[in-house]
Amino acid sequence: MWNLNYDSPKEIERVLNEKGLAMSKKFGQNFLISPEGRKRLIDLMELEKGMKVWEIGPGLGAITHMLLKEEVCLTSFEIDHGFASLLRDVAFNDEENFDLVEGDALKTLFKKKLLPLPERIVGNLPYNVGSVMIGKLIENSYLPPLMVFTLQREVVDRMTSKPGEDDYSSFSVLTQMDYENKLSLKLPKGCFWPQPNVESAVVVMKKRDTPLVPLGLRPVFIPLLRDLFHQRRKTIRNNLNSSLYGNLGKEKVEELLSRSGLTGNERAEALSWDSLVRLGESALEISREAL
Ligand code: SAM
Repeated sequence: MWNLNYDSPKEIERVLNEKGLAMSKKFGQNFLISPEGRKRLIDLMELEKGMKVWEIGPGLGAITHMLLKEEVCLTSFEIDHGFASLLRDVAFNDEENFDLVEGDALKTLFKKKLLPLPERIVGNLPYNVGSVMIGKLIENSYLPPLMVFTLQREVVDRMTSKPGEDDYSSFSVLTQMDYENKLSLKLPKGCFWPQPNVESAVVVMKKRDTPLVPLGLRPVFIPLLRDLFHQRRKTIRNNLNSSLYGNLGKEKVEELLSRSGLTGNERAEALSWDSLVRLGESALEISREAL
């Protein structure tokens, strides 16, 4: 393992120059230069020796090197080919417990040969694709017991908000079906280099013993969710009628609402989990009856 001083932008810049590498804005590259921030992040992961861990977006290895010190079995997923070869061939080339998967994690994470799933997934996620990545993990039922991510503060607010709160959205529902999410650490802009324009926070996602939405309901529930929340402040009747995903048609929308015990004038942001699940169950019944 190399001995880069991850706290020092100067050092990082020197290594990048030496290796002829450039930072890429499009990949959301903001390195976590705060040693305290990195330590807290690792503590939140509740690691044990030998655990299987996946890291999304290792960059130059600021978090990677700490994970390897914890003696976990680590696979990191990096899109930047220059960073990937530096990690694999220089930084961690002598680490037996380190594997690097090069390419877009939105695709590479789902390669069958990497299964079984790890016990932990972690990442200081690029701002532009952080929420897409988490959504994709959940929609593909990639649900390890614990995930820890650094994200834009607003994304964490959506993941932790409750029905009726301002930030509550379909993403809140999607990420809370299987997980209890907690904003566990705020990271001011100065914790990163280069400094991002937005505030960041660490979210800890702890898997629930029992999911709030049964797994069998998901193929119907997830498209329904998108329809219900399609436009904020619209009633669920209007949103379902201008349906993008479910394409139910007016008659079936009324049937769905009445079977679910709803008037249709409710806003999705205010629906309780019980109402959402009832809507999902009714939609499943209706689709089965149509067969
Ligand atoms: N983990 C490092 C740290 O904390 O200092 C770097 C974090 S930086 C915010 C995000 C990293 O994710 C960058 O290394 C970037 O190249 C990588 N990345 C961006 N998009 C990616 C994608 N689709 N798949 C895999 N890695 C990606």
